[in-house]
This record gives sequence, structure tokens and C-alpha cells, in this order.
Amino acid sequence: MKSARKMTTNICILGGGPAGYVAAIRAAQLGAEVVLVEEKELGGVCLNVGCIPTKALLSTADMASTIKRSKEFGIESRIEGINWNVAVARKNRVVKNLTTGVEQLLDAKGVTILKGRGTITSDREMLVQTAEETVEVTWEKLIITTGAVPLIPTIKGIDLEGVLTSTEALRMDSLPLQMVIIGAGVIGLEFASMFAAMGVKITVIELLDRILPAEDTEIASELLKIMKRKGIAVKLSAKVKEIQKSEDGLTVTYSVDEKELAQSCEKVLVAVGRKLNTDSFQNLPLHIENNAIVVNDSMETNIKGVYAAGDIVGGKLLAHLAFMEGRVAAQNALGISSKVNYKAVPSCIYTNPEAASVGMTQETAENAGISVKVGRFNFRNNGRAQTLGDREGFVKVIADQDNTIIGAQILGVHASEMISELTLAITLKAKADDLADMIHPHPALSEAIWEACGDLLGRAIHKM
Ligand code: NAD
Repeated sequence: MKSARKMTTNICILGGGPAGYVAAIRAAQLGAEVVLVEEKELGGVCLNVGCIPTKALLSTADMASTIKRSKEFGIESRIEGINWNVAVARKNRVVKNLTTGVEQLLDAKGVTILKGRGTITSDREMLVQTAEETVEVTWEKLIITTGAVPLIPTIKGIDLEGVLTSTEALRMDSLPLQMVIIGAGVIGLEFASMFAAMGVKITVIELLDRILPAEDTEIASELLKIMKRKGIAVKLSAKVKEIQKSEDGLTVTYSVDEKELAQSCEKVLVAVGRKLNTDSFQNLPLHIENNAIVVNDSMETNIKGVYAAGDIVGGKLLAHLAFMEGRVAAQNALGISSKVNYKAVPSCIYTNPEAASVGMTQETAENAGISVKVGRFNFRNNGRAQTLGDREGFVKVIADQDNTIIGAQILGVHASEMISELTLAITLKAKADDLADMIHPHPALSEAIWEACGDLLGRAIHKM
């Protein structure tokens, strides 16, 4: 057997997703020699099969929704058809542009990219199998950023053709007429919203008695109403028994309150959570809990000099959190003490309308024994929302008894853009008074934040 080529580096990073490539860029900015090991495309799930491709396709869905209601705005138009292959080709171009951009950034910073599967053999060494050779990489510091993959539940018939993960759903040859989605979490609902807008008849089957178990209950129940109004069928407290082949595709059998029901469809999308990729570091005695690597505030694991960041450390699997964790891991690995502010992590769900949140919900605060003040403002009372014709949803702001903002949730159009104001407020430990006294542009959706803070203080203007 040919012996492995040897390579030494200051920082070795295993995994080129949002945590890994940001860690690589930051470490290189700080003057370190960096080797980044990635077996697939750079950019990880987010760029290749997650955030970016879904949002590119969502733009097609949004365009369809706009055309459908154009009459209300005085425009006579109708959809002649949705060309899924054109939408997918556009999505692929967006993905390619961004992954190429990441590769160029890494090149420009002098990061060595090793394209191949890395297997860690000790706390100082890994073997990377590229297409041409085996490389033995040794390092001073290691950052593990191996991410997560879709979790496949044990359901009879789950291996049948036509039963898809979110990754596979992005690669379908054509749009199905009917789809069953198992799981009403973030992925399930984003796909439900997107495909429904493209004309696919959707049934969502959820085990729990609510959608979005990690989100504020008020947001979740309002979004559920809106999605039902849009024709999406959502079956709660429903247990999938079996998926079977049928004449026109597949039949999903499930039970609700002991009653057995069946739904036929062409495709089934499975979105019941994600499993962390732990198989490439089995040789390291890492402290692992709930399948995730345990790290301290510096993103360092129980093994000195070995750091971890992104989905592999568990919690909410968010690309922007992974960016920050990767940056913090790289800085600490190079002697710059820093940590992630987990109190101010925004999270956005790209349904129609969007749901975004940051910090504590009313429930999590109350469960933690915090006596809260809550301010609310509905978009139907906001001028800009009226002009846009997007009146659904509301802003909810949570503060402690000193009026310091500790959490916020937004359901509504462009919620993912607006949540940053509230993330900044929590980061700067601002009070509701600060935002209520700040001039917001008029007319703008962000006035709803101003009004919700005013409401919390008993002085909202456009509220009865
Ligand atoms: P999730 O944990 O958000 O939701 C999974 C849902 O499936 C839950 O509601 C759960 O009760 C349900 N479920 C589990 N087993 C079931 C079964 N057998 N039958 C029916 N329902 C079942 O998981 P996800 O939606 O797969 O998303 C995975 C991760 O990726 C999450 O952490 C999410 O935050 C993240 N993500 C984030 C974004 C975003 O930020 N916009 C987008 C996509 C994914």
C-alpha cells in the first residue's frame, strides 16, 4: 500500500459547512495555517441542500402567490403553469454561485482545502482519503464541524421509492399532485408552505398536538390557522403506522385517537428532525450527550485543543449560529478569548407568512420563574402591512419587570428581516422604553415593533 502523504498545520477543520468554512476564514485572517477537510461540496447542508436552495425555490412559490392575488392589486394575470425544472435550474445556479464564492474566499485567504473523507485517528491526527491519495494531517488545534443529516424514523415502508428526505425533495423530477409530509417542525412546514403555493395538495402528519414544538404557542397556533386557510391539511396527534405502495403512488396509514385513517399521495416527505454526524470521530474519547459533542463557552471539547461548532454541538440547528460558533472556536483556538451570546440567537421559519423569534418565549421565561411583561401589536393595524396586503400576524415582545427585553416573536411578512432589531435590543440589554422611544420610519412594518414595545409599557398609539 502506498504510504500517506504527511501534512502539518496550525488548525485543521473537519467539515466545510457554515461552521467549518467560517472557522477556516477567521483562523486564516488571524494568520494561522489552515487545512479544511470536506468530502462533498463546500457550504454544507445550508448552501447545498438546506437554507439556500429552499429559499431559492421559495422565491418561485412567492412569485406564484403574488400572481394568484394580483387581481386584488388591479392586475389581470394568471398562472399558466409552474415549470419545476426551470425553478430547480435557477436554484442550482444560485447554489453554484454561492458555493463557488465560498471556495474563492477560502482560496484567497490561503486555506488549504482537502477534498475527501477525513477520519480522525487520534487527538493529533486524521487520515483524509481524497480521489488521488491518502493524506495524514497533524495539527496543533482541531475544530470538528461535521454537521447533521436527516433522521429517518422506523416506519414500515419508509424505504419505498417516493419517500423522500428534504435533500431528495429538492431533486424531484417534477412536482407531485399530492404530498404527505411527516413532521410539522421547521422543515416540514417550510416545505408544506412552499409546495402548497406551487399547487401541490399537502397533508402534514404530526405526532404531537401542536406544530413547531420549539416555538411560542401563540405563534404556532396562529400559523396553523393561516396554513389551514391556505388549504394545507394538518393532522395533529397523529401516528404514522405504515407507508404502502398503491395504484397511483403511495398510501400513508396513520391513526388519530385510535381511529385509523389513510392518505394517498405521490410523494412522502420525511421531516422528523436531524441526526448529528458522529461517525468520523469515533476514535476520540469525546464527551457526547444526546448525540451531540459537549463543549464549554470557548467551544472547546473535553479534549484540550479539540474544538467543535455548528450542528454537531446540538441545540437549534441554525446556519447563522454555526457561523458564530465557528468564528468563536477559531478565535479561542488561536488564543483570542471569545464566546457566543446564546441569549440573542434569532431563528426564522420561512413559511408564508414567516415566523421569527429571538431569546425567551413567554412560556420559557415563566417556566424559568421570571415574571414577565408582554407587549403585542397586530400587523392588521400597521399601515405598511395594509398597503402590502399582508395583514396577517403580530409582534410579541417579552420583557422582565425592569422592562429589559428578554425575548420576542414575530409572525408576519418579512419577519426574518425584522427580528434583527430585537436581536440587537437583547444583545445591548435594551429596555422596551428604548425601542418605544426610538423613531421608526413610517410607513414601515418595523413600526409594529415600536408599537409592541409601547403596548408593553401601556402606551401603544394605534391600538384600542
Ligand atoms: P424539528 O425538530 O423542527 O421538527 C420535527 C417534527 O417532527 C416535530 O414536530 C416532531 O414532533 C415531529 N415528529 C417526530 N417524529 C414523528 C413521527 N414519527 N411522525 C410525525 N411527526 C413526527 O425537525 P426538522 O423540521 O426536521 O428540522 C431539523 C432541524 O433543522 C431543526 O433543528 C431546525 O431548527 C433546523 N432547520 C432550521 C431552519 C431555519 O432556520 N429556517 C430550516 C430548516 C431546518
